[in-house]
Order: sequence, then C-alpha cells, then structure tokens
Amino acid sequence: MGLLEDNIIRILESPEVRRINFQCGPVRIYGQGYRRVADAIRSRRLVCVHNTLAQQAGVALYQHAVGPNRVNRLQIPDPAFPNIHHKAMLVHEATHAIEDYHRRALNELDAEAAAYLAQMMYYRVQDQLPPFSGGATWMDLAGIAYNIANRLVSTPAYEVSPQEHTQLRGAIHRLVVHRQRLYRHADQNTIDYDGL
Ligand SMILES: [Zn+2]
Repeated sequence: MGLLEDNIIRILESPEVRRINFQCGPVRIYGQGYRRVADAIRSRRLVCVHNTLAQQAGVALYQHAVGPNRVNRLQIPDPAFPNIHHKAMLVHEATHAIEDYHRRALNELDAEAAAYLAQMMYYRVQDQLPPFSGGATWMDLAGIAYNIANRLVSTPAYEVSPQEHTQLRGAIHRLVVHRQRLYRHADQNTIDYDGL
C-alpha cells in the first residue's frame, strides 16, 4: 500500500468519521461501516487511484463495478487531502462504498442522499461549514443536508424524517439536472451494488 491508501485509511478510521451514524430512507450508515471500507482497501477488494483528470475537475468518484472483473474503485483528486473539503468528499464516496458493502440495489437519489448527509455530518461534528459557493442548486442542497446533519448531531438523533428525506432527494435531483449529468433521471435509476 502507498501513501494514498494510508491517508484514506487514516481518515476513515478517525474519531470524527466514527461519529457518522444515521438512517436515511432505506440506507443505514454507521461509523463502523467506514472501518469495513478501510479493511476492503487493506485486502485490495477496493482499489484506490489518484486521478489527475478528477484533480482538474475537483471531484472524487466511487465505482462499484469496473470492467469485466467488476472491480471496486475509488478515484481521488488529491492524494494529500489538503483540507477538510477533500476529506469530506472522501466521506461522501466512502458512503457509497458502505452502500456497496450492504450489497443491495438502491435508487440513485437514495444512494446520494445518504452520501451527501454523511459528507455534511463530517463537517458538523467538527463545527466546520461546507463551501457555500458553487451555484444556487449546490447551496440549496448543501444547506438542506447540513441542517439535517445539525439536527441529528445536536439532538442527538438517528433517523432522518420522511419529510427531510423527501426534501433532500428533491435538492439532489435539481442539482443533477442542473449539472446535466448522465444520471439526470436519477429519480428512476437503480444502482446494483453488488458487494465490496
Ligand atoms: Zn455520490
């Protein structure tokens, strides 16, 4: 294993990530799950790569089945994780890896709702804020997800309410339509998570 893997594992096993714990629609996320993802990296069931194209775009990506061997792959824009935003992005993608670990097909908006909520919880447990620049649809989503994270952490509570879940799904759908991404029909898309 190299520096990239070491850095990822250190973040996934940190006390901050351990505090991420919630039920959002059909998805259950818990601190121990991120340790399962770290274990998958150690045993090479999850491959980590530094993607320079992703670096230019400033995004990370989790792929649950690449190629004929259906490899699990995590693409990272900067192996040094220079600030909290990069770490929060890793938490988002590692949340998809937990969903994959659960080996259950998920509606894409449900998959993203849990990932964005985990991302915002990572900020909230450290009393930090996400970047609110980046367009109205992103600000809308970040605000909604952060408010839910704030309620869960400060109450403390565990369950995202049906109303919050619907609100979160709506904001994600508007963002993906706005960005003209391939999954603009995310309200109908299913991801066949097949195991980590
Ligand atoms: Zn995502």
